[in-house]
Amino acid sequence: NTTVRVESVSKQYDLGGTVTALDDVDLTLSAGSYTAVMGPSGSGKSTLLNLIGGLDTPSSGRVVVNGQDVSAASEGERADIRGTEVGFVFQTFNLMPRLSAVENVALPLVFDGWDRARRRKRATSLLSEVGLADRTDHVPAELSGGQRQRVAIARALSTDPALILADEPTGNVDTDTGARILDLFDDFHGAGNTFLLVTHERHVAERAERIVHVEDGHIQSVEDVSGGER
Ligand code: ADP
Ligand code: ADP
Repeated sequence: NTTVRVESVSKQYDLGGTVTALDDVDLTLSAGSYTAVMGPSGSGKSTLLNLIGGLDTPSSGRVVVNGQDVSAASEGERADIRGTEVGFVFQTFNLMPRLSAVENVALPLVFDGWDRARRRKRATSLLSEVGLADRTDHVPAELSGGQRQRVAIARALSTDPALILADEPTGNVDTDTGARILDLFDDFHGAGNTFLLVTHERHVAERAERIVHVEDGHIQSVEDVSGGER
C-alpha cells in the first residue's frame, strides 16, 4: 500500500564543479501519510521534492511512485504520472498569465474531461476555500504574490491528486491565510491524500505526522509528531 519509495537516491549537479544535492537518501511515504521536510537552505529539500514529482531524475538510485519507477521513465511518461497522480505546488507558481484565477484552477480538469460548468464550480469552490472568492476573475498580474500562491495551491488540489507535493506552501502568505491553507490540507489528508511538504516553519511542519530533517543531502533524523491536528 506504499505510494512513494525513494531508494538509495543520490543527485549530483555538474556546474563546473560537482554539487551533491542528495546523498544516498531512503524515504518511504505510505498511502495517506503526511510528511514535512525541514532543513537549512541548500540541504536538498527541493531536489528531493522534484525527484519524487518526476521533474528531474536521480544520478543513482530509484524513485517509485505507485509502483512505477519514475527514475526510469521517459520525460513524457513522467509528465503523465505528474498530470494524473501528483499535485505539485511549485515555489514559482507557473500560472498561465492570460487566464483568470478560476480558469487557471480549472485547467487541469480540462485534461480530466470535466465539462465547463463542473470545472467552474469546483475551481470557484477551491478558490473560496483559499480565501480568494473575490478574486476569481483576476489574471495573475492583478494578484499579489501571496494571492498567486493561493491560486497555485487551489490548482494543485483541483484534480484531487493522490500525492500532493508542496514547496513552502505558506511561505508567502499572512498567518490567517497560512492557517486556512493548512486547514485545507488537513481536509484533503483526512480524505486519504498523501502529503509531502517542505517548510522552514516549525509550526507548519508540526501539522504533519512526521518531520524528516535533511542536512547536507542526508536525512539526519525522522521525528514523529504526536499531538498534531489529527
Ligand atoms: P533546498 O531546497 O534545501 O534549499 P536544493 O535542493 O534547492 O536545497 O539544493 C541542494 C543543493 O543543490 C544546493 O547546493 C543547490 O545549490 C544545488 N542545486 C539545486 N538545484 C540545482 C541545479 N538545478 N543546478 C545546480 N545545482 C543545483
Ligand atoms: P499579499 O500579502 O497577499 O502578498 P499585497 O500586500 O501584495 O498582498 O497586496 C495587497 C492587495 O493589492 C491585494 O488585494 C492585491 O489584489 C492588490 N495587488 C497587489 N499587486 C497588484 C498588482 N500588480 N496589480 C493589481 N493589484 C495588485
